Amino acid sequence: MSKIYSIKWNVGAHIRFSQKIAPTIREAINSGMYTLQFFMGNPQSLKRQRITDEDIKKTQELTKKFPMSIYTHFPYVANFAGKSAPDGLAWSGNQSVDGYVRSMLKELEYELSIMAQVGHGVVIHPGSHPNRQGGLEAIAKSINKIDFAPGSQVLLENCAGEGNKLCRDFKEIKMVLDGIDEDNLPNVGICVDTAHIWGQGDYDLRSIDEVERMFVDFDNIIGLENFRLLHLNDSEVPLGSRKDRHACLGEGYIWKEGFESLLYLLNKCKELDIPAVLETNGYDMLTLGQLSEIEDDEIVCVGVPKVQECDCCRITA
Ligand SMILES: [Zn+2]
Ligand SMILES: [Zn+2]
Repeated sequence: MSKIYSIKWNVGAHIRFSQKIAPTIREAINSGMYTLQFFMGNPQSLKRQRITDEDIKKTQELTKKFPMSIYTHFPYVANFAGKSAPDGLAWSGNQSVDGYVRSMLKELEYELSIMAQVGHGVVIHPGSHPNRQGGLEAIAKSINKIDFAPGSQVLLENCAGEGNKLCRDFKEIKMVLDGIDEDNLPNVGICVDTAHIWGQGDYDLRSIDEVERMFVDFDNIIGLENFRLLHLNDSEVPLGSRKDRHACLGEGYIWKEGFESLLYLLNKCKELDIPAVLETNGYDMLTLGQLSEIEDDEIVCVGVPKVQECDCCRITA
């Protein structure tokens, strides 16, 4: 007989977009999620799906009954620094690059206007450029050009330190924030991805002390009030490999030896009211359901290769 778990953290997953928002959210609710993320259209194209008023109305009715934290992810191909070539920096005189960023911002403004009515924010990968300083400044300038719908929120996500990708650590994110006009700052927050933190290699998330150090640094450099969303992913690659390869919880390098630091992270996010989104597959929801059964004072096991095999946590698949 299958077991129904009730999850004690504000978590959910990135799920398939059903071409309309209301059915997408209904699917998340049916899967036991309290939060969700989806691509509002084709992830490879900057053109975003148009949403009908009827869909917005249905979504609002649904979330009145089942309050959820709802996010969209803007396409990965968007580069708010311009184009990743030496002469491709946005807002430095290259008309064709500026035109490209402008049309991208129009689509982002549309997505923000929809999410302001039904959700909580739009996650973006800030961009890439060989000139890091110039690139970070260009991202801030791009954000300053956004006409934010009232109450809308864009969330900058840290990268895994791959190649020319920007915002690889909290200091780079802070450099972007420093370039954003004060009027726009309330519309900007940060999304931290655990697999990217791991890829960049600044924090060894296997240890509770290191998870704590990450929060302390975030607070000192950016301010915890700006930590709005967690992307919760294990990683297929070793610490500091500067690669972005998500793995299911407990099947990657971060948590294959044990879930103690994961439980600490989840509890910390709960305390700080930071929702978490899984970007792997639905199987991880089951893992979190099983972990929810563990009382905090029972976290004694040292090695948990897979939660399903953990005797001391009394969990069986
Ligand atoms: Zn992510
Ligand atoms: Zn990623």
